[in-house]
Amino acid sequence: SDAGPADLQVEGIGKTFRGLRALHEVRLSVPAGAIKGVVGPNGSGKTTLLNVVSGLYTPSTGEYAVGGVRATALGPTALSRHGVARTFQNLRLFADLTVRDNVLFALDRSRSAASAEYLVWPVGVVRDERRLRAEAEELLAEFGIADFADLAPRSLPYGIQRRVELARAVATGPRILLLDEPAAGLNGQEVAQLAQIVRTIRDRGVTVVLVEHNMGLVMSLCDEVAVLANGSVIADGTPEQVVADPAVVEAYLGD
Ligand code: ADP
Repeated sequence: SDAGPADLQVEGIGKTFRGLRALHEVRLSVPAGAIKGVVGPNGSGKTTLLNVVSGLYTPSTGEYAVGGVRATALGPTALSRHGVARTFQNLRLFADLTVRDNVLFALDRSRSAASAEYLVWPVGVVRDERRLRAEAEELLAEFGIADFADLAPRSLPYGIQRRVELARAVATGPRILLLDEPAAGLNGQEVAQLAQIVRTIRDRGVTVVLVEHNMGLVMSLCDEVAVLANGSVIADGTPEQVVADPAVVEAYLGD
């Protein structure tokens, strides 16, 4: 694992829904370049934590920073520009766009700031468009979805749709990628492919947070694992450390 500065630093995060405490004093540190797992029984607060650090929920207490910059009040659009991307437990693809256009849309948005200069150099638009298309084709090939580029996601097998969502998230050029149960609904072969894709994403320099029920995947993929139970972090360390932790064993037996 990486000893560099944290890419995501969560301090004292709490989230309460009408009296129900979903998160309590959560502290989490994700080193730059790491794959960090977040596991825990159903209802322990994993998705709520992802919803907070992707700006969809405002935390009731606490702060978090991305790349050393306070991000608590940014909201999802600014967080996306700041380099936070995510996938969802229930896929959220652009249903009416082709696979290629799902990826192109994300590539385009990530360059919206740079495109201002093309008001001055209109010829650049053509060049840039060509470069975007080349980048899209590269991503489609890398994620093994080039054969489906002209199809709408809804016509494709579920495992392929999951890969399209991953490719779209990576297309935004994130520094940190949040994955919410990416192995859900996948067969064994697809899980193995997913593991390889996540390693490739990390090797591109992207920090990964992996919320996942498939413990085999978490143990083989993650540099560090945090365990949530009843909205609190009850263990945080290497995969070997957390599986040997009696508090973790107890939390899972009580599930
Ligand atoms: P996990 O992802 O670990 O299964 P969740 O984060 O989905 O857990 O849920 C944690 C707790 O917060 C649960 O009790 C859940 O019912 C509650 N919760 C999550 N989102 C909401 C919401 N939008 N409104 C009310 N309660 C919620």
